[in-house]
Amino acid sequence: MSEHTIIPARTGKAVRVKAGERLKIINLHGTQVADTWALSIDDPSEYLSMEQTRRMNFKLSPKGGDMLFSNRRNEMVLLEEDSGPAHHDTLIAACDKWVYLKAGRDEDHPSCQGNFRNALAEIGMEAPALVPNPLNLWMNIPVNPEGVLSMEPPVSREGDYIVFAPVMDVVMVFSACPADTTDINGKDRIIRDVAYKLLA
Ligand SMILES: [Zn+2]
Repeated sequence: MSEHTIIPARTGKAVRVKAGERLKIINLHGTQVADTWALSIDDPSEYLSMEQTRRMNFKLSPKGGDMLFSNRRNEMVLLEEDSGPAHHDTLIAACDKWVYLKAGRDEDHPSCQGNFRNALAEIGMEAPALVPNPLNLWMNIPVNPEGVLSMEPPVSREGDYIVFAPVMDVVMVFSACPADTTDINGKDRIIRDVAYKLLA
């Protein structure tokens, strides 16, 4: 069994995971949001779709045991296990250079969209022109009964983890979200490492 691989704070990592394999992602410190994507290895234009997953499950937030679907409505990745009570956001786009520019930060502030592209480039894969909307693990976006959203610090705990079981060969991409302009990664706004482990 492999050891944990650290995804350093503010960076991303792409991992090939075959159907039948499982991948565990761990919130080492409890407060770190991890933007998550999956692309089919056979045809990367097929990707994990939050829009289709909400439609197929009739839920805003997937839970342990829920299937996640592709943009072609195919079963793609089972969210097999979720250790904690936190919701996982499916509504908010991955952060990009523009959100940081508008917040007065430099153009080279790391972003989840940049991390997605860099992580794929690192394993020799070309990123799609449009970055799909991610599954934002542990990102706390409560929705009130009137449909109004808010952005709150994570309620996940140190060591919380999720196990993904792809049902097709995929490359999964994770970004330890570099957002330090809101409390979305904790009230101290310190960005932290997450880790993953391929399970037998
Ligand atoms: Zn982000």
